[in-house]
Amino acid sequence: MDFELTDIQKQIQQTFRDFTLRKVKPVAAKLDEEKIFPTKLFKEAGELGFFGMRYPESAGGSGLDITSYCLAVMELARGSLSLAVSCTMQSLMGTFFLFRFGDEEIRKKYFIEALKGKKIGAICMTEPNAGSDLFGIKSVAKITEDGFVLNGQKTWVTSAPVADFFTVLARTSPDEHQPVTQTGLSIFFVPANLEGVMIGKTIEKLGVCGSLTSEVSFSDVKLPKNYLLGEIGSGTKCLMEILAEIRIMTAALAIGVATAAFEDAVEYSKTREQFGKTIGTFQAIKMKLADMAVQLETAKHYVFYAAWLSEKNLPRQKESMIAKLYASECANSICDQATRVFASYGFAMEYPVQRYFRDARFTLIGGGTSEILKNNIGKELGL
Ligand SMILES: Cc1cc2nc3c(=O)[nH]c(=O)nc-3n(C[C@H](O)[C@H](O)[C@H](O)COP(=O)(O)OP(=O)(O)OC[C@H]3O[C@@H](n4cnc5c(N)ncnc54)[C@H](O)[C@@H]3O)c2cc1C
Repeated sequence: MDFELTDIQKQIQQTFRDFTLRKVKPVAAKLDEEKIFPTKLFKEAGELGFFGMRYPESAGGSGLDITSYCLAVMELARGSLSLAVSCTMQSLMGTFFLFRFGDEEIRKKYFIEALKGKKIGAICMTEPNAGSDLFGIKSVAKITEDGFVLNGQKTWVTSAPVADFFTVLARTSPDEHQPVTQTGLSIFFVPANLEGVMIGKTIEKLGVCGSLTSEVSFSDVKLPKNYLLGEIGSGTKCLMEILAEIRIMTAALAIGVATAAFEDAVEYSKTREQFGKTIGTFQAIKMKLADMAVQLETAKHYVFYAAWLSEKNLPRQKESMIAKLYASECANSICDQATRVFASYGFAMEYPVQRYFRDARFTLIGGGTSEILKNNIGKELGL
């Protein structure tokens, strides 16, 4: 067992740490307050190679390991979870199915440009009445002579207001009134400028406010045959291919935001004085910070363990769920405790700790809620 990072991993960590310190942290509050998509930083992340890290060199990426990717994600999330969420959606869900199944046209015109951060891709799975239960989706792609006609409504689509293209999960089962089965879902590529694609109003959110989210509807959208990604009915199977990585990535996001909250709390406890002493000298605060350190370190190590399993191509479904569940719960606890260390200043919009507290809530939802993960971990245990 080797816990030391390789030279390349250290280099990636340093590159994204520098980027975050110099460019992201100074504008993180503004992105959150003004609810603006971080266009410039997004492109710069593309120039640093963030979007291509998980794709082979032959496809235009850099073929880096998942640990390197997690290190980069943690650094971005330490500066702004909004930016990190926008970037991670693009680097995995937004582009993965184009890489796996896109033809020459899709790859050249969209995938390669997305790796550079010049085009933005979003994933449309969730619907107003189907969140955790994706088999409940109603969007349907009807097979025609020339291809497909897509109808339906999606919601909570990250980056939809600025997206150039969508990857859409829809039913292709013959009878749209029957419940969807394992083979009833398919994945489609949908450019945002096609007739019938409509972007709804941006959703006002509690956190990650600089990552824009909205509804997207599809009304009789005509798709040529090559816009089917994978085979008819292979949607569930395709999603399973990337699910573990999505969960490890979400866990890395949680570690990033928790690190920022923890570091600010430690620093504050060394400088804030009450009763003639710095508050860090009080046992109650010291214990709190020690508990936070334990949560952060154990969660981080488990995320790297899940990443290691993934890199070795070993079974990792259960471990990726444990990593996501534990890291996101720890991150929320750490951000909560950090606001208590700051007390009234943790309640003030002037300090970033309130933003970490709000942003961390996202990590409890994306990649599967804690309840769903516990259900699935139970299943892995044979229950
Ligand atoms: C900021 C943000 C960005 C997002 N980005 C995207 C995106 O880009 N693309 C996309 O497709 N989706 C996106 N989502 C949607 C996200 O994937 C869903 O919100 C998530 O799957 C949960 O669905 P839901 O919110 O409808 O909750 P529901 O599924 O309605 O769940 C409600 C509650 O019931 C619990 N519950 C549900 N079923 C069970 C069960 N069987 N057993 C026990 N408890 C259960 C849940 O854990 C939860 O507590 C995003 C969400 C957020 C908040």
